[in-house]
Amino acid sequence: MAAVVIVGAQWGDEGKGKVVDYLAQSFDLVARYSGGHNAGHTVIFNGHRFILQLIPCGILRPGKQAVIGAGVVVDPAALVAEMNSLAKAGIDVTGRLFLSNRAHLIFPYHRQVEVAAEAARGASKIGTTSRGIGPSYEDKMSRRGLRVCDLMMDAACFREKLQHLAAEKDAICRAAFGQPLEVAGLVDQYLKFAERLRPFVADTSALLNRAISQGKRALLEGAQGTMLDIDHGTYPFVTSSNSTAGGACTGLGLSPLSITGVAGITKAYTTRVGGGPFPTEMPDLEANDLRQRGKEFGAVTGRPRRCGWLDAVMLRYAIQLNGINSLVVTKLDVFDAQREIQVCTGYRYKGSPLAEMPPDIETLEKVTPEYRTLPGWMASTSSLKDPAALPAAARDYLKFISDALGVEIGMISTGPEREATFLLPGTKLASWL
Ligand code: GDP
Repeated sequence: MAAVVIVGAQWGDEGKGKVVDYLAQSFDLVARYSGGHNAGHTVIFNGHRFILQLIPCGILRPGKQAVIGAGVVVDPAALVAEMNSLAKAGIDVTGRLFLSNRAHLIFPYHRQVEVAAEAARGASKIGTTSRGIGPSYEDKMSRRGLRVCDLMMDAACFREKLQHLAAEKDAICRAAFGQPLEVAGLVDQYLKFAERLRPFVADTSALLNRAISQGKRALLEGAQGTMLDIDHGTYPFVTSSNSTAGGACTGLGLSPLSITGVAGITKAYTTRVGGGPFPTEMPDLEANDLRQRGKEFGAVTGRPRRCGWLDAVMLRYAIQLNGINSLVVTKLDVFDAQREIQVCTGYRYKGSPLAEMPPDIETLEKVTPEYRTLPGWMASTSSLKDPAALPAAARDYLKFISDALGVEIGMISTGPEREATFLLPGTKLASWL
């Protein structure tokens, strides 16, 4: 029995997609527990570049099952489009994709409300992806959302529920933003989605629990990263769900006792998209250089990512919150041409060391990072065939990170391709596979 959580240890975009794709070969199921189609996992293989937003990337491996859990908010249009693009690449999801009957739905009015609300915020925009994800989670929490099971019920009943809800939303949108909602044809459009999705709908909590108790192996995949968690991240510059490992239990309907390991994914440096505090952010010129080398532009939105040094304070916080017992370091190759590398080992605030991650962005914006400078390796790691051949300075960098965080490094990644992924022998992570 194995249920291993894969969690982003930073602000998302750590390369989770690639890591999950690699690890999926040793698991029977890959399940997604939070977020919506704002996450964009990029996986490259056989010359194809796949951006998977909702369907767990385990689907790219023949015979593996992919689960979209109750904690995910689902835009049926996005899901159907993704299924179609997989079909075009010759990947058949029939009998392998399972959509939770308890997952909440996204409607076009969620997007419309989100765009209007972001515009109304002016300079204090959160920088959302405008896909209706936040408003759908708002409806879920205010107990007026519609779920996949509603879409699966009798058409007249769904029509009545949606019409009632759309009228309420329309009144709110007119009053708050002076805009009517576009709801014409909505019910019929969703009823068409219902028929397309029906064969994939399941009680995925029951399915997963049954599979795990039968000795099957499940990989539980989060979206975004720890610092974007709604409760523990840099609020309000966060996502609308629990991206931390606890979200795997609530979002999939699994008991905490069934989790057997937690792997945290971090880049060899740090990036973040959109606004919010970023203590180790690099000055423009340096960041630009790293951004080009690391191709740090959003997989879904194309937005340039802000770049900075590795932040051990943040990673220690992530390890504590998620129970990370093995770390995966990606994008090591992006530092191949870096003469000197800095790592933030502590924060000072008003001259004193900070023991804990501050809860408010005002303090985090004012912390002064304390850095250790390490030599770069100035050699290529991108075509490595064997991790033992890593340059000595790269090994020292990894050892420094592992010692500073008190956690093993179980895997490294030195390029975007599947082959540029190395499991380190003798680690916990290796023993989970
Ligand atoms: P995710 O949402 O955490 O899966 O991350 P993204 O897919 O948004 O971003 C990761 C990007 O980095 C993708 O374009 C990957 O192909 C790429 N990538 C992943 N690992 C590596 C690596 O080790 N080196 C390089 N150069 N690129 C990588």
